[in-house]
Amino acid sequence: IVRYLVILILFVQILVLYHNSHHIKNVSEKYFPSVFNNLKYPFLTSTGELNLAFFKFRFEENITVPEAIERNIEIYTKVMEKKISEPKVNDLKRPTENYQLANATLFSLVRNSELKGIVPVIIQIEEKFNNKFHYPWTFLNDEPFTDDFKTEVLKHTKSNCFFEVIPKEYWNKPSHIDPEKEKKGIKKLQEAGVPYADKDSYHNMCRFNSGTFYNIPHMKQFKWYWRIEPDTRYYCHINYDVFKFMEDHNKTYGFNINVYDVQETIETLWTTTLDFLKEHPQYLHPEGAYDWLLEDLQYPIKAKLTKGYSTCHFWSNFEIANLDFFRGEQYSQWFEHLDKAGGFYYERWGDAPVHSMGLALFEDKSKIHWFRDIGYQHSPYINCPNSDQCGDCTPAEFCGIASGVKENCMANWIKYEMSDEQLAMY
Ligand code: GDP
Ligand code: MN
Repeated sequence: IVRYLVILILFVQILVLYHNSHHIKNVSEKYFPSVFNNLKYPFLTSTGELNLAFFKFRFEENITVPEAIERNIEIYTKVMEKKISEPKVNDLKRPTENYQLANATLFSLVRNSELKGIVPVIIQIEEKFNNKFHYPWTFLNDEPFTDDFKTEVLKHTKSNCFFEVIPKEYWNKPSHIDPEKEKKGIKKLQEAGVPYADKDSYHNMCRFNSGTFYNIPHMKQFKWYWRIEPDTRYYCHINYDVFKFMEDHNKTYGFNINVYDVQETIETLWTTTLDFLKEHPQYLHPEGAYDWLLEDLQYPIKAKLTKGYSTCHFWSNFEIANLDFFRGEQYSQWFEHLDKAGGFYYERWGDAPVHSMGLALFEDKSKIHWFRDIGYQHSPYINCPNSDQCGDCTPAEFCGIASGVKENCMANWIKYEMSDEQLAMY
């Protein structure tokens, strides 16, 4: 009898294994290679469901917050102090006669009232980059641009300029937002001292930049964009075509600053995302930036409130990126889920954490490029490389205010997600 029982148990186990392997295959077939491997997909359980344990308790290192900050400053400073110039690849594209541009636009969402803030940035971008290439500019606004705005802008570039009004359906608050719930949310944010909490247009802007800008009719024609904001500074000459660099090296997204977010603004972004991932575990990328996403050593109160997300994000006021990533199935389905949940209005979900989380989950981390060579400031943070191409900034200085250094999470990107090859890129 014992012998028969053992045989029966073995038989049942084989059946279960067989069933599971088929289930896993169905889940993963679409995006993953047909051979399922638990080491490669630790975020899935053996039955192909979302493995919640993977997203919890990652960093149980015995290190205090001040120690973590100190260690990370050291990592950041060491990288930033290295003398660099351009990416070390042998196919950077330089301006030539009859130069063939990439399908790209310089892109700025801006208000008429910000004319004085955007003009100096246009002047810098033209002088340091675009007068060699003449990429077109796109200016977007929820209201028509004034003649004054257009006339002044046109004085500072020889490139083609588009001045576009955003169609209302891409900008306005969706009708499903519950005004009572919204009011309560705003009050909670205000009590936590969150800036722009009651500014309707700011919530619209964050939602627009998170999930609709890449689909407006005007943007549909482009594959690449460089996001440019008023009142920012560009410190360095860029003598190669950054869009062609992205294209030629199979990059999706370029950034230059990493910071932690105001955790109250995205309290439920991660839990809302987990609900989505439970339904679509197959969307997760095996080479995602999970450690960076879930780090909780340097600023643990942030990950604590969000129930897992470090809040570290690519600071999206600068980005050079492929619009098709956002238009893709994973990101757009996920955005729809977020939009329905309403956190752009009940909280103040920003486009920076939304872009960043989307990239960390759904893209190969090696396709995310740190443009270390593009010296940049959006107050109060700075990316200042040690390069002869730059002026007017102090190499490795991240923030003019001393307390700002703890907000810098670039070291996590360096430590957890950059390969040796990427570190050697500059
Ligand atoms: P912050 O960087 O988070 O402090 O926010 P900003 O005020 O710089 O806004 C981010 C970007 O969105 C900037 O490029 C602004 O010009 C733009 N922006 C914000 N609100 C509006 C708005 O209501 N209308 C338009 N057209 N642009 C906006
Ligand atoms: Mn800004």
